[in-house]
Amino acid sequence: MTRRRTINIIGAGPASLTAAIVLRRHGFAVKVFEAAPDVGHRLNGDFQGLENWSSEKDVTEQLREIGIGINFLCMPYHEGTVYAPGLDPVDVKSDRPIFYLVRRGDMPGTLDWGLKEQALALGVEIAFKRRVDSIEGRAIVGTGPKGADAVAVGMTFNTQMQDRAAVVLDDEIAPKGYAYLLVKQGYGTMAAVLYRDFKKADAYLEKTLAFFTGRMDLDMENTKKFGGYGNFFLRDSQMRNEKLYVGEAAGFQDCLWGFGMRYAMLSGYAAARSIMDGEDYDTLWQRELRPGLESSLVNRYLFERIGHAGYRLLTRCFGRGDPAKTLKRLYRPSLLKRLLLPLASAAYESSVRDLSCSREDCRCVWCRCGTRACP
Ligand SMILES: Cc1cc2nc3c(=O)[nH]c(=O)nc-3n(C[C@H](O)[C@H](O)[C@H](O)COP(=O)(O)OP(=O)(O)OC[C@H]3O[C@@H](n4cnc5c(N)ncnc54)[C@H](O)[C@@H]3O)c2cc1C
Repeated sequence: MTRRRTINIIGAGPASLTAAIVLRRHGFAVKVFEAAPDVGHRLNGDFQGLENWSSEKDVTEQLREIGIGINFLCMPYHEGTVYAPGLDPVDVKSDRPIFYLVRRGDMPGTLDWGLKEQALALGVEIAFKRRVDSIEGRAIVGTGPKGADAVAVGMTFNTQMQDRAAVVLDDEIAPKGYAYLLVKQGYGTMAAVLYRDFKKADAYLEKTLAFFTGRMDLDMENTKKFGGYGNFFLRDSQMRNEKLYVGEAAGFQDCLWGFGMRYAMLSGYAAARSIMDGEDYDTLWQRELRPGLESSLVNRYLFERIGHAGYRLLTRCFGRGDPAKTLKRLYRPSLLKRLLLPLASAAYESSVRDLSCSREDCRCVWCRCGTRACP
């Protein structure tokens, strides 16, 4: 059954496509506008981790429950190696998958492609090469990040290396962030995620490359460089001019390390539920997502301050116990986190403001220009 009113959705990232799939399953006609010629254009065939520590429920179970099928590469990773300055590498292992490896981009097998296939199979209309900067009436806006609070620079490659996952915490290699290596079935991704010094991104990628090739037998062929950025901020409302903002367009992103996919999809689900059930979207996302977002903001505040000694301590903690449990504890809301939240919020304000828009009567779907009409 198709209900008469069409729901417009801007952007075809994971947040928007989740909303589209859920709405369509519940009988709504859905039209998605995507600026790029296909889904996943902002990504490059790189591996990403779908984190599995921020809630009790396994993330794949959570996705199935909200109506998202797993028709894309989604491999559980239970172990890996963590490096910190001045420490021997620490092997970590967990009973529960620490994360699921997914691939991103505009090719079959990726998360983006899988979500597109699910949406199309249900009858969602997707208009590609259709950039939308303003739209009348109600819509869901999932247009992704608008500026760089963190920058990732990396490369994908083919390799003979066995499957593995490795992370490096070292400000000389990825200031206030981390570098990682993910290899699965002859394909790999290596990247540095920086929270400072974006202009030296290429130099940090060189250091990342030197780090991994210097420590392990890593052959690389067919290397392709990529880069991207992440945007996080916390606002009290994600509804303006009848628009519901989802994913990174709403600043929904893990502030500590940039694991934004889960927030993106869950916020898309919350927006769909708000339309289906008439529940207030702000109430829904504040209940479901805000505790995790706030914990991640406090974690970022602390991570910025602990330095190399703190990285060593954290790495030893991961090695001593079950890393998935350690991470879950780190992300759990607590009284201490509540007390630190004002400090963390004051210390952190996204540098992003949409300078291209300052109209008093702004109706831009993406705008956070700060005018009276668009606070
Ligand atoms: C290099 C890199 C590595 C990452 N690694 C991880 C990771 O390991 N784990 C993790 O969880 N997250 C990771 N992330 C973050 C994750 O990719 C994002 O948080 C997630 O994709 C956000 O989803 P979204 O739907 O909000 O936006 P996006 O995925 O950015 O999708 C937005 C879409 O909207 C379209 N669009 C934009 N403006 C318009 C417009 N005006 N009209 C029409 N269409 C428009 C864009 O073309 C795009 O397709 C990484 C990000 C990068 C860049």
